[in-house]
Amino acid sequence: TVGAVALDQNGNLAAATSTGGLTGQLKGRIGDSPILGGGTYANNEVCAVSCTGDGEVIMRGVLAHEVYALVKYGNEDIRNAAQKAIEVYDKNLQGDKGLIAIDPKGNVSLAFNTTMMKRAYRINNGEMVVALWKEDKDG
Ligand code: ASP
Repeated sequence: TVGAVALDQNGNLAAATSTGGLTGQLKGRIGDSPILGGGTYANNEVCAVSCTGDGEVIMRGVLAHEVYALVKYGNEDIRNAAQKAIEVYDKNLQGDKGLIAIDPKGNVSLAFNTTMMKRAYRINNGEMVVALWKEDKDG
């Protein structure tokens, strides 16, 4: 995965996620990255989210939208929402997961349960860009 979330000077939030998929994946599998609500989600009023990890559990748990829902309807701040979404207790939704998220105030969350997730962020002239990338399981 290479993912990014951003807040621009006009208050717009954006998310983008790219992936090479999983090693040995079935032909035609597209994974969670391009699925809005799955691996990617953005809404100017609430947050922007980009995910990495086991795509099947991310899709089933609609992980990016789960963060959005926890902020919007659960009144969680972006950090708690991201951590709660990662720590989902449903036994069918266990797996490697990581995400980056940003809210309209520029608060950033970097939540993960895998050491394979690398992340960084930068503030530039009142704009913020957060990036994530994931090392392959083989190193
Ligand atoms: N989430 C991606 C997928 O399942 C894998 C990755 O994290 O790059 O396709």
